[in-house]
Amino acid sequence: MNFDYLLVRLGELTLKGRNRGKFESLMLGKIKQALAQYPELTYESAFGRVYIKLNGADGTRVLSRLTDVFGIWTISPVVKTKHDLEDIRKAALAVMDAHRPVPSTFKMSVKRAWKGFPHDSMEMNHLVGAHVLRNSPSLRVDVREPEVELRLDIQHQGVFVYCTVVPGAGGFPLGMNGKAMLLLSGGIDSPVAGWTAMRKGLEIEAVHFHSYPFTSQQATDKVVALAQRLAHYGGRIKLHLVPFTELQTLLAQQKQDHLIITLMRRSMLRIAERLAERSGALALVTGDSLGQVASQTLGSMNVIGRTASLPLLRPLVMMDKLEIIRISERIGTYETSILPYEDCCTLFVPKSPATNPNLRVVEGIEHALGEQLERLVAEAVAGTETVVMTPQGKEEEKRPTAAPEDRWF
Ligand code: ATP
Ligand code: MG
Repeated sequence: MNFDYLLVRLGELTLKGRNRGKFESLMLGKIKQALAQYPELTYESAFGRVYIKLNGADGTRVLSRLTDVFGIWTISPVVKTKHDLEDIRKAALAVMDAHRPVPSTFKMSVKRAWKGFPHDSMEMNHLVGAHVLRNSPSLRVDVREPEVELRLDIQHQGVFVYCTVVPGAGGFPLGMNGKAMLLLSGGIDSPVAGWTAMRKGLEIEAVHFHSYPFTSQQATDKVVALAQRLAHYGGRIKLHLVPFTELQTLLAQQKQDHLIITLMRRSMLRIAERLAERSGALALVTGDSLGQVASQTLGSMNVIGRTASLPLLRPLVMMDKLEIIRISERIGTYETSILPYEDCCTLFVPKSPATNPNLRVVEGIEHALGEQLERLVAEAVAGTETVVMTPQGKEEEKRPTAAPEDRWF
């Protein structure tokens, strides 16, 4: 069946009140951006919906791309007809005929938004439903549990006929709720946390701590690949790569094996917070999930979290690992996350990490390190390299070209 339009329904809950206009125009921009590779599409937006005319583009591919755009509730491939009963009947039959698997029951559902149309919903229900039944011998009506619901949406600009409703990603348009800094490791959880944050309308930048040369180049490449995948949803993501080796070595020298992860995480938060402030991010996001490992018990989260003064968002905190894995498969990060390269923290994992670290002891160690700790934190921030990831890969740095008088050759 060649449908000619996609009907996109925007997040309903956010459509009330004064923000509606802003939300709708922001969404239209995001949709156009996601579909930039299809210049033939044309758009029309009305009352929480966007009608996309395909003009020959591959509807299945366009639809699939739209399921990744945040702020979209549902999407339907539709056929548009004139306000003409025979045209509507023809389209209705074609839509039903094209449905797979072939249904044995259906019901009609008519919405007459444009009151200028001569037949009311009840009449249309009958006029079109009877036509479909007459021409489909094995089809019956079942109003309670139909296999297919054949819908007519009568609008001023035409009648839309369809029976498929595909769920969208939901959430808010990206960036509508500000910016946050994601602590991105190479594991399964933090990319999912990043996607969840973006779905809630947060633009993200990512920060990764590496202990090169103790951790390999592949470990960093893996994080770069994860950030690239997140850029599929976010368009463009800055990834800050922080050299963590010296700090980690200093912390390891304190001979407090069971507290090393706690100490490392606190330093990571300090650095992430400085980077966040530099780029105007108002929150930190991590992939912590309650009880998953020693550093994610309530006791550990308490002692670690106290270092941050920005809000610390942990979108996965109440989720089970299986739920997290399911999302990571859906968003396309799982295969990369399970590649076996060492993370900076796994290098130093002690035999028995503290599950309930003592805040005073931890603060005492940091206090004793004094300026040395502060200096290494500042050096790590200063030594941070930033790459910009797009869905296609690293964005080449645009170096300012030197003015002629600056040239020494
Ligand atoms: P993940 O799968 O995200 O690595 P995890 O279950 O392995 O999570 P941890 O390794 O204990 O958990 O890390 C908890 C959180 O701390 C991570 O989700 C991430 O947000 C942050 N984090 C850990 N290591 C790093 C790192 N090297 N760089 C940036 N953030 C990190
Ligand atoms: Mg990890």
